[in-house]
Amino acid sequence: MNTKLKIPYCRIRCDGNELRYIQETLESGWLTTGAKCFEFEKKFSQKIGGKFACAVSSGTAALHLACEAIGIGPGDKIFVPTMTFTSSAEIIRYLGADPIFLDVEYGTCLLTPGILEEAIRKHPGAKAVILVHVGGQAAQLLGEGLTDNNQGIIGICQRNALKLIEDAAHAFPARFRGRMIGSFGDATCFSFYANKTITTGEGGMLVTDERALFERAKVMRLHGISRDIWDRYTSAGSSWEYDVIAPGYKYNMPDVAAAIGLAQLERADLLRQERERCARFYFKNLKEVDSIDLPSVRESMADHAWHLYSIVLNERSRLARNRFVELMAEKGIGTSVHYKPLHRMTYYRERYGLRPEDFPNAERIWRGCVSLPIYPTLGNGELEYICDSIREILA
Ligand SMILES: *Cc1c(COP(=O)(O)O)cnc(C)c1O
Repeated sequence: MNTKLKIPYCRIRCDGNELRYIQETLESGWLTTGAKCFEFEKKFSQKIGGKFACAVSSGTAALHLACEAIGIGPGDKIFVPTMTFTSSAEIIRYLGADPIFLDVEYGTCLLTPGILEEAIRKHPGAKAVILVHVGGQAAQLLGEGLTDNNQGIIGICQRNALKLIEDAAHAFPARFRGRMIGSFGDATCFSFYANKTITTGEGGMLVTDERALFERAKVMRLHGISRDIWDRYTSAGSSWEYDVIAPGYKYNMPDVAAAIGLAQLERADLLRQERERCARFYFKNLKEVDSIDLPSVRESMADHAWHLYSIVLNERSRLARNRFVELMAEKGIGTSVHYKPLHRMTYYRERYGLRPEDFPNAERIWRGCVSLPIYPTLGNGELEYICDSIREILA
């Protein structure tokens, strides 16, 4: 066994062109939404292969704007998996609508076509689904290949007139059968929070192919003003004139953040590849530990964004999850938990009278789940130390 190391759960890497682009921004004298933000939107949508991208101040803001633009309002019912961050559901409440929480599949933590179909039978009037690509693995959007729309989640949504909003906070760059996440649902929302796969410090992006949805989101991200501030200063004619068409929000992305995003975007594939290296190391070195279940990968390893690597301590483990986390911390290894399911959170539990027994798979995951460090600067020596420590602790 190696000597003790100190391995944080997450380490941010900003050693590309970040400083250079920030400096350009500062020297330009334009710090709020402007040229850098538009360049970031353009390059991001090119990378996705989607038509429109709208940069915002957070992933939560992107989800809120997407649901608003789709027309979700008071009394609407929206399907949301319970195994997610509160953002995925809170934005439904912002609009006066109600989440209907769904269980997920055990090995992947994902909503499946089967779970969704059953939910539609129970709640035929639901209006939309917030689909979360947990950990960076895409949910089953299509049936077979890239054309079978019948068996996948997209086909189910189409047949039942459900809008599909993808929470892709973990899923950049991720693919489903080789095609980028961001080019499937009605709207896809990414997060650039500090610990996500690429970051702008705080930030998010809404991507869509529907012009009307995009136009609405753009207006609502800046106070409901019908013209961008940038346009007002750069176009000829009356620079002061603008109209307010709705009580919008303050969700625009400043250029300083977009500058960081541009640099991160340039290296997104490289960073993903390094995380895949970590995942492969874990699979290879932990596969014989019979008291943990490793994550299930449904499609190709290369399509996965590898934002999380979550193991589950199973019924053969003599340690409870919290004790395992403590012992890992004593070894100097940071871990995290994804997720304490939303049906266990006081607000949702009390408001909707939710019971753990209605979410058996999520409960089984929750009891044992631990997320291991996975990031580009995590060296193979460190990975070896983590795996050795896990084996020792669970022996
Ligand atoms: C991080 C995250 C969000 C919210 O993103 P922010 O940029 O922090 O607002 C939404 N959904 C999931 C699943 C997340 O992990």
